[in-house]
Amino acid sequence: MKKVVVVGSINMDLVTRCKRAPKGGETLFGEEFFQVPGGKGANQAVAIGKLGTEVTMLGKVGKDSFGKDLINSMKESGVDARYIEEGEKSTGIAKIIVEENGQNRILVVAGANSEVDKAYIDRYLDVIKECDIVVAQLEIPVEIVAYALAKAKEFGKMTILNPAPARELDDEIIKNSDLIIPNESELALITGMPTETEEEIKKAGEKLLDMGVSNLIVTLGSKGSLHLNREVCEFHSAYKVKAIDTTAAGDSFIGGLVRELKDNNVGEAIEFATKVSAIAVTRKGAQTSIPTIEEVENFEG
Ligand code: ATP
Repeated sequence: MKKVVVVGSINMDLVTRCKRAPKGGETLFGEEFFQVPGGKGANQAVAIGKLGTEVTMLGKVGKDSFGKDLINSMKESGVDARYIEEGEKSTGIAKIIVEENGQNRILVVAGANSEVDKAYIDRYLDVIKECDIVVAQLEIPVEIVAYALAKAKEFGKMTILNPAPARELDDEIIKNSDLIIPNESELALITGMPTETEEEIKKAGEKLLDMGVSNLIVTLGSKGSLHLNREVCEFHSAYKVKAIDTTAAGDSFIGGLVRELKDNNVGEAIEFATKVSAIAVTRKGAQTSIPTIEEVENFEG
C-alpha cells in the first residue's frame, strides 16, 4: 500500500464571530468563539488519513494543550503522529475574527512551526526513505521545505508542493517538485502574471512549465481545476453543490488527489479530488469537513 509523508504546519485556529471587529483601544463583546484544528500540513495529512491512505506527519507543536489536542485530532483521523516533536515556542495559531458582514481578519503566529529545521528533517530521513510520496506547503520555513523536497528527490520519491501561502519560488524548489498545486492567486504571485481569465491562467501555467515545473494543477474554486503539462491542458469542472464553508477546499482536494494518484493517472486522481473537495465545501470547518472514503464512494454529485 502507498505511504505518504506530509512535511508542514500544525495550527490551532481560534475563531471569533462578532458584529464588527474592535478598533485600536476598543473592547467589544463577540457573539461566539470556537477552536478548530488547522494548519495546511495537518489538514492535508488528515484528509489523506481520513481517505484511508497510510500517512505520517512531520512537523512541530509547542509544549501546550493546543499541541496535544492537535496531535490527538490527527491520530483520530488515522495520521501517524509519532514523529511530531515539541518545540520551544508555543503551538502555531491563527486568530480569526469573522465579522457579521462576512469579512475575515486573520493573524497567524507560526510558533513551533518556525522551529522545523534541517536537524529535525535529518532525524526522520528514514521515514522519508520508506514512503512513496512527500507532500509539502509553505507554512514552515521555505528553506526547510526546499531541503525536505531535495532529500525526497535524492531518495527517488514523488514530491508534491502546494505553494500556499503564496510567495515566489526559487529554481531549486521548482526543480524538486514533481507536481505543483497552486490556486489562481498563488499562480499569479509565483509567475507575476494575471490569472483572471481562462486564457490568462493557461498562459501563467505555461510560464510555470517554462520555469521547470513538469506537472501543474491550478485549483479554481467553484470553477474546478486545470491540469497542465507539456502534453495535457485539461479543465476539470467542479460539482455544483451548495457551498457553505470553503475552508480547506484546497487541502481536501490535495488529500483526494494523493489518495488516488498512481503512475501517470493524474486526470483520474483529479476527478476523485474534485469529489472529495465538493463534499468538504458543503460542511463547516477545516478538518471536520473532510469526508471519509465511504462518504466519497456514496457521493452522487
Ligand atoms: P483553501 O485555501 O480554502 O483550502 P484553495 O484556494 O486552496 O482553498 P480552491 O481552488 O478554492 O482551493 O478549491 C479547491 C477545489 O475545491 C476546487 O478545484 C474545486 O474542485 C473544489 N471547490 C472549491 N470551491 C467549490 C465550490 N464552491 N463548489 C464545488 N467545489 C468547490
